[in-house]
Amino acid sequence: MRRRELDVAIVGGGPVGALLGALLCRSRGTRRRVLLIEPRLPAPIDAPLDPQADLRVVALSSASQRVARAAGAWEALERVPGLLSPYERMHVWPGTETPRGDGSITFDATELGETDLGHIVPNARVQRAALDAFVAAGGEICREPLRSLAFEEDGVRLVTDTHSVGAALVVGADGGRSAVREAAGLGIESQDYDQQGVVATVHSELSHARTAWQRFLGHGTLALLPLADGRCSIVWSLPRLRAEAVVALPVAQFEAELTAASDGVLGALRLAGPRSVFPLRRALAPAYVRERCALVGDAAHIVHPLAGQGLNLGIMDAAALAEVLQEAATQGEDPGALRVLRRYERWRKGGNESMSLALDLLNRFLAFGDGPVGRIAQRGLGLVGRQALLRRGFAQFALGSVGDLPALARRRGST
Ligand SMILES: Cc1cc2nc3c(=O)[nH]c(=O)nc-3n(C[C@H](O)[C@H](O)[C@H](O)COP(=O)(O)OP(=O)(O)OC[C@H]3O[C@@H](n4cnc5c(N)ncnc54)[C@H](O)[C@@H]3O)c2cc1C
Repeated sequence: MRRRELDVAIVGGGPVGALLGALLCRSRGTRRRVLLIEPRLPAPIDAPLDPQADLRVVALSSASQRVARAAGAWEALERVPGLLSPYERMHVWPGTETPRGDGSITFDATELGETDLGHIVPNARVQRAALDAFVAAGGEICREPLRSLAFEEDGVRLVTDTHSVGAALVVGADGGRSAVREAAGLGIESQDYDQQGVVATVHSELSHARTAWQRFLGHGTLALLPLADGRCSIVWSLPRLRAEAVVALPVAQFEAELTAASDGVLGALRLAGPRSVFPLRRALAPAYVRERCALVGDAAHIVHPLAGQGLNLGIMDAAALAEVLQEAATQGEDPGALRVLRRYERWRKGGNESMSLALDLLNRFLAFGDGPVGRIAQRGLGLVGRQALLRRGFAQFALGSVGDLPALARRRGST
């Protein structure tokens, strides 16, 4: 068994862990030994899109784009034609109204002086671009799962099938079922929504007009995310049993129900490939850090996907932790010291919890609120749509330009 000593070991090379690794390796003036432990690598960045593996897409905010660029990952996504689908508008409306009725809102990038509100990208390609950037920056990947993690007096020891690795700091970026979180005794508070997200790619009769369309149904939500090739990626959140029934419908019936759920906003919708379902839950770790350990991304928090914020929050965690560790290195501090890691926790935890609560309320009262409270919430949506200031605030939220952002995520010229 090989032994190795490191500054930082990151467990989990999903998009968040891989971006963090790349940022750490590229930090100015501090050469760090960073190992990423990840058993599964997605397809090469320029491989043809796979209908199943690339089915799940994510909407990345401009703030996430800036972080991915700083990590050296964005250029690779730009280079491969068709991977990035910019969207310029977001149109939201309640199930009780017609798509362009009084209760609808359109957020437009031009209102904010931007060219787009963000980009739709296949999740596996964001991950691959980040992993490639990590390796290009001098990082090393151990392609095995973590088997055990022990906290020792002045470091941690991580064991995989063929390696025993000592590190000053372990970062748990190993997703919702984080083994690092468990070994560190950090715990998780979890709430099952008893809902599932039905995901598929569809052709639409009418052009999506580079607009992300979202309908709050009263018994779920439907998002139609515009892809560069003219198709849309759907995320249709429904109660679990209904989602399971819908995904098993014959194709023609599925298409008819989907078109009805969209209120025909893009005309008839036709399936372009397989359908899949993802269970939806909300989870929050009560603490993100302990001596020699920090959690980032889904290992620390899982939110409802209705506003496409989960990965964006995780990317902000990665950028914030990289910034805190860079400052610590400049001051000659131990990266695994609790007082250093607490700075990261204080920075990210409150904001992530507020976002999680806001999404939970949207899910309760708009997506699933078909009673009187839901109707009040739907009227509130119309009010936001008619007030330029409120509309602008919501659009900035979609752009990821609110809150105390890490320096790498800020727009040039903003403080
Ligand atoms: C239907 C749906 C739609 C979504 N849409 C959006 C969206 O539009 N925008 C957005 O921002 N977010 C979206 N999200 C959320 C987003 O997908 C997640 O927040 C994001 O993928 C989390 O990234 P991560 O790197 O933290 O974790 P993960 O992607 O879960 O990565 C964890 C990694 O850890 C590895 N791992 C696990 N255990 C071990 C171990 N023992 N040893 C070594 N490695 C291990 C795994 O192999 C994996 O690669 C959506 C989620 C769903 C379900």
